[in-house]
Amino acid sequence: MTHIFTLPTPSVAIYGIKSRFPVRRIFCVGRNYEDHAKEFGHNPKDPPYFFTKPADTVVESGAKLPFPVGTENLHFEAELVVAIGTDGSAVPRDTALEHVFGFAAGNDLTRRDLQAKAKDARRPWDMAKGFDNSAVLGAITPIADWNRDHARITCTLEGEINQDADIADMPWPVPDIIASLSRLVHLRAGDLIMTGTPAGVGQIRPGQVCTVAIEGLAEATVTLG
Ligand code: MN
Repeated sequence: MTHIFTLPTPSVAIYGIKSRFPVRRIFCVGRNYEDHAKEFGHNPKDPPYFFTKPADTVVESGAKLPFPVGTENLHFEAELVVAIGTDGSAVPRDTALEHVFGFAAGNDLTRRDLQAKAKDARRPWDMAKGFDNSAVLGAITPIADWNRDHARITCTLEGEINQDADIADMPWPVPDIIASLSRLVHLRAGDLIMTGTPAGVGQIRPGQVCTVAIEGLAEATVTLG
């Protein structure tokens, strides 16, 4: 007899209220800060491109996780995360923020060694980016309480600041990202968009604590065993 099972819906805390934000899909911007593009030898004027992580890779801030398998070079990437609350396709830039439920701090954990191999072999990034527990998210703050063009974004590893930038440095700000992505997919409520990381990415070693902080938002902290 076939065994029928149910699947839990991945979700993220919402700052200040009990309800949780159900996660439908996770989109990520490949490259969205000039200095980070340069550190990997790319032209920062190139338009953004996207990759995805499965919805159930999402991890709550404060989690203590086993160190990811399959890598000897795990990297942190501090990112502003957009939570979509209203469906839309081919969304104009001017009305893009009407589709936003809120914002969060996030860490786009990356198996950099697997990504380098994939790039060399022109293979997909899925196993470098979409592995278990690879999307660390702080609580989502509703847009009415946080909607800024400028905010400091940092990534701190073992108490030392490794990434330090401003979201104003993104060549493709949030409305542009929504306009662009919504021309490739029909954006749906529950979608998350990780908007790219500034320069200064680096390695997390076993036992270390890594915190992404964005001015005015709840931080995203993770401890890796
Ligand atoms: Mn990233």
